[in-house]
Amino acid sequence: MRTREFLEWPFFTPGHRELAAQVDAWAFKRFADGGGAHAEDRASVDAACRELVRDLGRAGWTRYSVPGEAMLAGLGTDKTVAAGAGRVDVARGGSANRGTAGGSGSAVGAGAAPGFDVRALAIIRETLAYHDGLADFAFAMQGLGSGAITLAGSPAIKQKYLPRVAAGEAIAAFALSEPDAGSDVAAIKCSARLDGDSYVLDGQKTWISNGGIADFYCVFARTSPAELRPDGSVTARGISAFVVDSNAPGFSIAERIDVIAPHPLATLAFNECRIPVGNRLGAEGDGFKLAMRTLDVFRTSVAGAALGFAQRALDEALKQSLTRPMFGKTLADLQLTQAALADMATEIDAARLQTYRAAWLRDRGDTVTKEVAMAKMSATESAQRAIDRAVQIFGGRGVVHGETVEHLYRDIRALRIYEGATEVQKLIIARELLNAARKAQ
Ligand SMILES: Cc1cc2nc3c(=O)[nH]c(=O)nc-3n(C[C@H](O)[C@H](O)[C@H](O)COP(=O)(O)OP(=O)(O)OC[C@H]3O[C@@H](n4cnc5c(N)ncnc54)[C@H](O)[C@@H]3O)c2cc1C
Repeated sequence: MRTREFLEWPFFTPGHRELAAQVDAWAFKRFADGGGAHAEDRASVDAACRELVRDLGRAGWTRYSVPGEAMLAGLGTDKTVAAGAGRVDVARGGSANRGTAGGSGSAVGAGAAPGFDVRALAIIRETLAYHDGLADFAFAMQGLGSGAITLAGSPAIKQKYLPRVAAGEAIAAFALSEPDAGSDVAAIKCSARLDGDSYVLDGQKTWISNGGIADFYCVFARTSPAELRPDGSVTARGISAFVVDSNAPGFSIAERIDVIAPHPLATLAFNECRIPVGNRLGAEGDGFKLAMRTLDVFRTSVAGAALGFAQRALDEALKQSLTRPMFGKTLADLQLTQAALADMATEIDAARLQTYRAAWLRDRGDTVTKEVAMAKMSATESAQRAIDRAVQIFGGRGVVHGETVEHLYRDIRALRIYEGATEVQKLIIARELLNAARKAQ
């Protein structure tokens, strides 16, 4: 029933189409049981995530989280390790205008994050989310959790972490949020003090995905005190980024957090946590910019995941409405059902156009802050509406634990909150619009 016609859109290269087909074939096999449903106790979720990261690594998909040249920079001359048998060369047949699909690291232009192929990331996330929400989560976190190393790590740090992330042998995490600093992320308080050849970290991080199973955490902390603006808000200055191993002295998991769509999540504690100076990522004070650059690469892929969940909901709704007898016909024969299906399909299509437009613009090097925010907002919000309609079409069955639409209903919710809540995306879009209008005055 599912169509993949969107892959014929001009945003994609033949390499992207081949990648989409390969990931889809792999996911069909890996989730032959229908996917999506996992035991939800903490130990089972942790074990499932570890296994998924390993499997995604073996299949070659996590290599897309770690662009080739970032690894090569760390690997010196041993380029064979990074070559990745499972990796499709998405640059093949790539756009002839302003750079290629980026798999070869040749994306160009002021806005490009060298080497990241945002279209590939979004395609993989859409495909995995369609099949299994936890697989999408496991894939996404390898990229988000190691992105700051790719963007700003020293060659030694890249060499230490990235090949293992790409191979699915090390689990990554991104630790920015704190109890009093979520949307207002510049307000973080966790501190890092230079002491000889070490930094000493003190404070907390919360809502940290992979918290409890990660091998390392990219942590953002204050290296100088917060500066206040006249209105009382905190400036983005004085924040730096570090990589902290899960066995670093003074590091611990303060609390595990259980959420509606279970995945490993925790509050982290840093109690005189000592790490080598060389674990700093980028220059001291550049941490806020680095966090935003990392999110900027991966935010479009959140939209990709939302599309996968929404498309699955539409397909389940189509199947159900064609087979459910009602009033002497089927549910599909009723015009109100048809209206619901039409709304779902149209909104998914619109969100998909915005998502892959943003990814394509990003890959060719444009500055696309507004387009990325639009894609993240419209894909996650419309996916929530599509999934809700699917639950309605299923009637009572739609709210039964273990039904596909029931877990999609839970899977989608957090995407409207993390990596910038919808309200934050609206502010970004409005800021960009108003800045442009002011300049034009
Ligand atoms: C499942 C999950 C996984 C996560 N994983 C990670 C992770 O791996 N690493 C990490 O660092 N963080 C992670 N987070 C944290 C996430 O980024 C924050 O939850 C998010 O930034 C919102 O912060 P908050 O929860 O503190 O909510 P708050 O900042 O308190 O915001 C609450 C609400 O206020 C509204 N709001 C925000 N700004 C405005 C505004 N200007 N005007 C009006 N309303 C506004 C929004 O609706 C928002 O949802 C995760 C969160 C969840 C739920």
